[in-house]
Amino acid sequence: MTVSPHGEATRTGPDKTTLLFAAVLPLLSVLDVLIFSHVNLEALGVRVLWAGELVLSAFLVTRLSGWSRRLFFLANSAIGSVFYLAVVACTGDVDSPYVHMVMCLPLLVAIVYPEEAGAAIVSGVVCMLGIGTLVVLTGHPPAQAIAWASLVAMTSFFGVAGSTQFRRALEARNEARLERTRREAAEKLAGTLAAQALSERLATVGRLTAGVMHEINNPLAFVHANLRFLQEELRAQRLSSEAHVELEQVLAETRSGVERVQQIVLDLKGFSRRDTEESTACALTDVVADAVRLAAVRLKHRVHVKVELPPGLPPVLATPRRLVQVLLNLLVNAGDAIEESGREPGQILVRGEARGQRVVLFVEDNGPGFPPEVLPRLFETFFTTKGPEKGTGLGLVISRELLEHCGATLTAENREEGGARLRIEWPAHDQAAGTLSG
Ligand code: ADP
Repeated sequence: MTVSPHGEATRTGPDKTTLLFAAVLPLLSVLDVLIFSHVNLEALGVRVLWAGELVLSAFLVTRLSGWSRRLFFLANSAIGSVFYLAVVACTGDVDSPYVHMVMCLPLLVAIVYPEEAGAAIVSGVVCMLGIGTLVVLTGHPPAQAIAWASLVAMTSFFGVAGSTQFRRALEARNEARLERTRREAAEKLAGTLAAQALSERLATVGRLTAGVMHEINNPLAFVHANLRFLQEELRAQRLSSEAHVELEQVLAETRSGVERVQQIVLDLKGFSRRDTEESTACALTDVVADAVRLAAVRLKHRVHVKVELPPGLPPVLATPRRLVQVLLNLLVNAGDAIEESGREPGQILVRGEARGQRVVLFVEDNGPGFPPEVLPRLFETFFTTKGPEKGTGLGLVISRELLEHCGATLTAENREEGGARLRIEWPAHDQAAGTLSG
């Protein structure tokens, strides 16, 4: 059974309960044998006819909807009641052992057609008229007919009340379902719009970064050249050795500082370039070094990053810049968590392992780890504990997506000794290539 948006129940196939009742109905003649010690052929005939009508209606009801369906319920409850009264008439009128069920008939109809309160009323009216007529025709006093009719009216009332309640509950449930669907659609739309706005903002930031990097790079180049010139000039001057050494040292330090800034600019320029590369086999050593260097700008001196990659680690299938983005995100997340917890000294370990043909890369920190309520939601879009200013809740989702693109997986867990562990796992190289081509 399905429910239409208007709270109307519609059955998708023939109603099995009705078919079952139709099959059992003629068999009820066994009761006649037990009660009257012989088969009551008239009652059997009525039951067979009734069963036929039920089979027809079980199929017919599937083609109806709206008003025709409601009318069908009303007509069917009247027909069912007439058939029952006919069985009563065939088995002894008012003295029939089945007569007592006449009172309950409207209630039964209300149970069979709970969505249609009118069905119980129709059945009640038919039963009242039917039983009243039987009582009067069989010579009983009219007061008895009135008593019977009153009892039937009472059960009809309860039947109608039950049906009304059922209908209200059905409507409330459908309304709640519709409301939930509407809300989910609205949330989805809001999420999509927010993601779109964010990606537009990030694209603008990327373009701005590329421009700013270009502007910084030019003055840096001549600052660097001038420093080299000064160093050479200094060597040509005949200064006292102490002053000379000191000046040399200052110039060397300044030059290395400028070179570091140049490297950062270079990295950022590379990072913000549009990425259309296909996955290739790449050495983790280079990628990890790039990511750690970029992250150092943010982690500053608060967190110490250690890298442990065994020399024979096989290359992995990835887009180097995307992998740098993923690692950068994991390192910054670890740094944020450590900073927030105030733990000192903060430590992050980037550790690689070859497990047979597979390669696993761990990013572990000694921060607070994932609280139990956060762990299952880590990869939910827009899930963040950092507040709107700092977090977007997209880092881990995007990271996982980027890694899946090259056949790798990203999972998170808490370390036994405390802190978080993010784990990137590449399948054996051939398998990953298969994933990509598939
Ligand atoms: P965002 O960084 O914008 O919050 P992410 O998807 O990158 O989005 O991270 C989702 C959440 O996962 C973070 O808000 C934080 O609560 C949690 N998280 C991520 N990395 C760590 C970590 N190393 N330690 C503790 N919590 C973390």
